[in-house]
Amino acid sequence: MPAPMRDIARILAERDDIAILSHENPDGDAVGSAAALGHILARLGKRFVLANASPLPGQYSWMDFPGPWTTDMPADYGFAVALDCGDGPRLGPLEKFVDPGRLIVIDHHLGNPGFGAINWVDTTASSTGEMVAALAEHLDIPLTGGLGQCLYVAMVTDTGDFTFGSTRPETLELAARILRAGLNLGQTNARLKNQWSLSRIRLWSEVMGGMTLHFGGRVGAVAISQETLARTGTSVEDCDGLVNWVLRVRGVLAAVAVRELPDKRVKFSLRSVGDVDVQRVAASFGGGGHKNASGGSVDGPLDAAEHILTASVGQSLAS
Ligand code: 5GP
Ligand code: MN
Repeated sequence: MPAPMRDIARILAERDDIAILSHENPDGDAVGSAAALGHILARLGKRFVLANASPLPGQYSWMDFPGPWTTDMPADYGFAVALDCGDGPRLGPLEKFVDPGRLIVIDHHLGNPGFGAINWVDTTASSTGEMVAALAEHLDIPLTGGLGQCLYVAMVTDTGDFTFGSTRPETLELAARILRAGLNLGQTNARLKNQWSLSRIRLWSEVMGGMTLHFGGRVGAVAISQETLARTGTSVEDCDGLVNWVLRVRGVLAAVAVRELPDKRVKFSLRSVGDVDVQRVAASFGGGGHKNASGGSVDGPLDAAEHILTASVGQSLAS
């Protein structure tokens, strides 16, 4: 058992005032792993607050949560736990309220600097949810009900439905234990996946239709402007997962998606297959992530950002 996990289990057992945090614009792993930790604390009879700089994305509103979500940092917390955050700035506007001396980090990102007092970083875990499940099992808490559901959402999101190379035998064994503990797989997946609006379909058609290929078809790029979002009546949540579809094009080894932010900066997402390492490219622009999935933000304008990121990803193919 990893030493930090033992320390974390001890602190959770001793304290009664935990703030549970995850990265802004949370994905399924950020939502699921944070909520799963809340379920663990609820089963231990502990007080906790689930906080995130962004409001809970509507696509997760059906989930069985252990309590309400807030966008404010609780003033009187004892320890904070940051889940699925590769570095401190991923906490967004909540970062400035967090005392690093009372911060626990549970994460699976490459290059995590260990920005807490206790840092449990396992880059072999396919999701942060997988790590929280190990904590639950260490504490002899059954993976039933909302706990199993939240863990499953975390796992399924970060492994691309158990298809990415990060999926380990342990991942599938854990999923099997969650199923045995009673998860309704068909209903959960229907609720998770069948969430699209017609506006989202229109956004994706337009953006995918504008895809460009570079470096002999080995790099694909898409761009999403504020104008496109406004015209199609969509928001940042509707862009989630879009970049993965660029990899569907035969011959594409690396995908670039750039999205214009309201302040004209540009959020980028990179994806790759196999040995192509996009974490290093993201890190060279101040971002981070994993070998095959990374992101960050750069200055605009959008087309310049698309150009520089595509060039940089293309260069990394050659090296
Ligand atoms: P996405 O492209 O889906 O936003 O993120 C892909 C991966 O890159 C995730 O593992 C995410 O945590 C990481 N990532 C995305 N944006 C940033 C960022 O601004 N900074 C860092 N360090 N990692 C990021
Ligand atoms: Mn994750």
